[in-house]
Amino acid sequence: MIGIGIDRVSKRFGSVVALDGISLTVEPGELFFLLGPSGCGKTTLLRILAGFYAPDGGNLFFGDREVTNLPAHRRHAGMVFQSYALWPHMTVAENIAFGLHQKKLPKSVVADRLMETLTGVRMEQFANRKPNELSGGQQQRVALARALAVRPRCLLLDEPLSNLDAQLRNEMRMEIRNICTKHKLTTIYVTHDQKEALAIGDRIAVFSRGRVEQVGTPLEVYKSPKNRFVAHFIGETNFLEGKVSAKEGAFLRADTVLGPVIGTPVDMAMPPGIGDCVHLSLRPEVIRLRSEAVDSNCFPGNIVSMTYFGEVAHYDFYSSGIRLKVSELNPRHLSHGDRKTILANVRPEDVVILKN
Ligand code: ATP
Repeated sequence: MIGIGIDRVSKRFGSVVALDGISLTVEPGELFFLLGPSGCGKTTLLRILAGFYAPDGGNLFFGDREVTNLPAHRRHAGMVFQSYALWPHMTVAENIAFGLHQKKLPKSVVADRLMETLTGVRMEQFANRKPNELSGGQQQRVALARALAVRPRCLLLDEPLSNLDAQLRNEMRMEIRNICTKHKLTTIYVTHDQKEALAIGDRIAVFSRGRVEQVGTPLEVYKSPKNRFVAHFIGETNFLEGKVSAKEGAFLRADTVLGPVIGTPVDMAMPPGIGDCVHLSLRPEVIRLRSEAVDSNCFPGNIVSMTYFGEVAHYDFYSSGIRLKVSELNPRHLSHGDRKTILANVRPEDVVILKN
């Protein structure tokens, strides 16, 4: 297992700054996600790691070895592309064995490795099919097998599941997680699908416009987003503008259009001071609708619309002219026509206070 070091890597395409001095450390055996909106530079970084693009500045390390100027074929990185890029004229077995023949491995080793890899991705019975005779999920497995067969030092995945339907995507993401764990492979996985990253990532780097906004575990980036961009990009949230008016133990009180709201500063080491303007982030699922008031963070209002999904309902709740998105598992507040005033309540530990 190797770690991967990315040190102040930058890349421009003409006037476009695709990467603006990115530094990241990926631990050996980690499944590490590069997550961000379209055009933020994720694929560019993956291609630089694979050796397809040269960076304009910065250095790359695979383990202790600097690979910045090493040609792609000598980096021993396995790459899986969004389009799979299987060779259409070759069978599944030939696609997978290609890299093994290139390495001039003995025939018996190639045969053993081929069988082992095919079995590993549950494609033994498809060895003699051509890619156009396979479903999207099966092609994706072959692409993974082809990358794994050569025993890469690390795995680079570029949106590998984006062509699959939702159900297959769920299955395949767990399969990728299992394969990475089984092979103890350091893996960098590019996606703009936050669910994929939250579901199987060890850590996530959230990108925006060629920069890293935050690196953390799924729980850290979801529960303690460092800034408004991360809070907005990962999951859904309600933002309120506020001004800090008091410190209350570990919490801060901020005056908002909903009245005083007590919350938790995300940066405990350097919290905002009294009088500072802040953003408050309230996830839809942390807001509870109730009929009796509690001590703090209770906002009277009405449900004005509701969408029922069976296990969960999404509400538009209006309080003091502000719309709050609220979601409720095992929904109870299913009528909204009576305009009855109820209360939205959120615990102070679930209100994230971000610096302006
Ligand atoms: P997506 O999720 O849409 O694939 P991305 O985050 O992977 O996006 P990149 O493909 O890395 O983004 O692109 C980053 C920026 O660099 C974009 O503005 C893109 O238009 C630009 N760019 C990428 N490759 C090239 C290229 N070969 N020539 C010119 N501009 C490029």
